[in-house]
Amino acid sequence: MTNSSTKPDPQKRWVEILVRGIVQGVGFRPFVFQLASRLGISGSVTNTSDGVVIKAHASDSALLRFLDDLVNQAPPLARIVSIEKREPADKPVETDSFQIKASETTATAQAIIPPDVALCDDCLRELHDPQDHRHRYPFINCTNCGPRFSIIETLPYDRPRTSMKVFPMCRLCTTEYGDPANRRYHAQPNACSQCGPRISWHNAQGKRIEVADVVRAAIDAINDDKVLAIRGLGGFHLCVNACSEAAVALLRARKNRPAKPLAVMVRDGDDAARVCYLTNKEAAILVSPEHPIILLHPRPGHPLAESVAPALSDIGIMLPYTPLHHLLFSEPDCPTALVMTSGNVAGEPICTGNKEALQRLRGIADFFLLHDRHIVTRVDDSVVKVIASQPRLMRRSRGYVPTPVFVPYELPPILGCGGGLKSTFSLGRGHTIFPSQHIGDLFNLASYDFYQESIDNLKRLFTLDPQAVACDLHPDYLSTRYAEQCGLPLYRIQHHHAHTVAVMAEHGLRGPVLAVVLDGTGYGPDGTIWGGELLQADCVSYRRLGSLQPLHLPGGDAASSEPWRMALSALYATLGSDAESSPLVDGIDQERRRIVMQMVASGFNSPLTSSCGRLFDAVAALLGLQFVSSFEGEAAMRLEACARTAFSGNWSDELDTNAEPAGDIRFLEKDRRWEIISSEFVKRVVHTSKFGTDRSVVALQFHSWLISRISHLVEKISGTSGIKEIVLSGGCLQNGLLLEGLLFSLSRRGLSVYTGSAIPNNDGGISVGQAVIGGLQHVSRGTHESRTGRGQSR
Ligand SMILES: [Zn+2]
Ligand SMILES: [Zn+2]
Ligand SMILES: [Zn+2]
Repeated sequence: MTNSSTKPDPQKRWVEILVRGIVQGVGFRPFVFQLASRLGISGSVTNTSDGVVIKAHASDSALLRFLDDLVNQAPPLARIVSIEKREPADKPVETDSFQIKASETTATAQAIIPPDVALCDDCLRELHDPQDHRHRYPFINCTNCGPRFSIIETLPYDRPRTSMKVFPMCRLCTTEYGDPANRRYHAQPNACSQCGPRISWHNAQGKRIEVADVVRAAIDAINDDKVLAIRGLGGFHLCVNACSEAAVALLRARKNRPAKPLAVMVRDGDDAARVCYLTNKEAAILVSPEHPIILLHPRPGHPLAESVAPALSDIGIMLPYTPLHHLLFSEPDCPTALVMTSGNVAGEPICTGNKEALQRLRGIADFFLLHDRHIVTRVDDSVVKVIASQPRLMRRSRGYVPTPVFVPYELPPILGCGGGLKSTFSLGRGHTIFPSQHIGDLFNLASYDFYQESIDNLKRLFTLDPQAVACDLHPDYLSTRYAEQCGLPLYRIQHHHAHTVAVMAEHGLRGPVLAVVLDGTGYGPDGTIWGGELLQADCVSYRRLGSLQPLHLPGGDAASSEPWRMALSALYATLGSDAESSPLVDGIDQERRRIVMQMVASGFNSPLTSSCGRLFDAVAALLGLQFVSSFEGEAAMRLEACARTAFSGNWSDELDTNAEPAGDIRFLEKDRRWEIISSEFVKRVVHTSKFGTDRSVVALQFHSWLISRISHLVEKISGTSGIKEIVLSGGCLQNGLLLEGLLFSLSRRGLSVYTGSAIPNNDGGISVGQAVIGGLQHVSRGTHESRTGRGQSR
């Protein structure tokens, strides 16, 4: 040590910098180290559960430069949310070097965990390089890629708090891990074939089969039309050759999944473009660090088995995102495409553990490709669809979770419990909301267990202890039951209000807005089932200004899976008792038709619903596209696919061609709200069909009519209320035609239109809306009580 370095420099002073955001597990500390060294700044950097804390001894000019570069040159996966500067509490000992210090645990964890990230190009190169130490190692990763969320047990994010703790690093890995100049410096999942996790090959009974090359054995089995269960990053996939009709049919039969589309993995972007139409934007999302499944339109003559996505317009495509996936595709005779569908039994959560998978997937898989790295948190693949040039998350999971949503509202610690379908929950605090990964439909014990386990897990990770809970108005949802037994102040939030506020939260809107919520189903406070709503809303309250005309839902829930029931109900609303003899439902047994007609006419077991989803069901059945659905939304998807074949690709022409004559705009004012007369659509469908119009044309006309009616009504209400901000949400907006058309038609009227992109428009998004509404209601109740001194006892 030289004399000069120990002498205090009057130009320099100490400052402590707290960086919050996604700054752990993304190579942030070595970046800070290199930056500080370059600028001649001494001090230290450390991970705390608050975020990254930097102690810097620097001149003012160097410090300014440092802070600037900190933001502008941060590593690719980092996302800085805030930087706070303050006087250090204790004056650090003078030093002339910069150090990376071991992690500290502090009481309040504000740190943010990075999501799991797809294999990076550097690691991919090494994976395929015969000279490289990690040649063909299925768990290669670095600071810029690999597992994160799925392996973290607690914060701060360090190897001993991950499921990598059972793999002591070899000498080479230790050296890389400890060298700030290495791209594996503090890469927590760092491993190699000497010291890290391994893959193994097992038969249907789980018995290990010794083979020279597991990857080779897997490809041989796939080419033999076998069904594989592959343990991956956040759970299991079931995998078969996507180009073999026999293999896909076998998987469908064994998984008891007759029609729901199966996700497919292809080697690279070029192969994706050969199978499907692909825009530049879609191609960029395919290779983004998140590597989601993207829904794409298949090209004619594509090599996939027809039954991968029968009669639907979209196929879910993704690229390899783990080293093992890349190894499979690097085998010379690997099929062009592999089905990679969630490894679960229908309706249950995806399997994570080896034993669990061997038990639950027995009877489905012929072989198991396993590994020995524990999956701490289940994460399914995320699903994205680009609509109106914007990516829309349909399922927000791997790659995105647990990235938070930052909102302009100050929230108390709160839990939003979500709904029944496509469940998620959200934890909120301050200006941050953490939406959970996709959990699935909450109708069985296994999903409910997963739901509870995930809530406990995220509460612990973020050390967030809710002071209030928010749930859906629906009394029978398991998520509502969960909320009720929390013993905390409880806020019951109307389903479509939650949909609306989820979009408002994403865009930082405070309202009032006019919201069009087109949805499958949601509990209405008037005892009917809502789902085609026009609301005026802000973040704490709403008013129902309009809806689709309510139709009877014969048989209640049964109607959702049998669209022909809705067709009869809609026909009844249009034609009265003549409906029963309509040739449009000829495919349905006479006796069943008669019973359903009686139900509709008497209202017995036929609640009223304004659901847009059920209206789509009705039209799909009237056009003979779908009488019985095997999964939620199937009929609507068929209707969209059918309409697409008639669509020219230009909304302006489409809406003008199908424009309604002046004075023909049919709204009814009823009970001080507007009703869009759904039976009018039905009448026109019946009419046009009778004249032999091609059903794809009728399907498209139906979309246009609906868009045009809704837009007219919104314009009218906007005119009287002066509200120009329009929110679009609800599960029906997964329909690209509908969303695109509404965006076009409403924008054309000079309105500002907002819809979900990072937060799903479907029920996967409502927990975010619940957290905001419940949180703000809780705050205002607290303020109100303390002002009036009128506490509410529980
Ligand atoms: Zn990497
Ligand atoms: Zn090693
Ligand atoms: Zn909904």
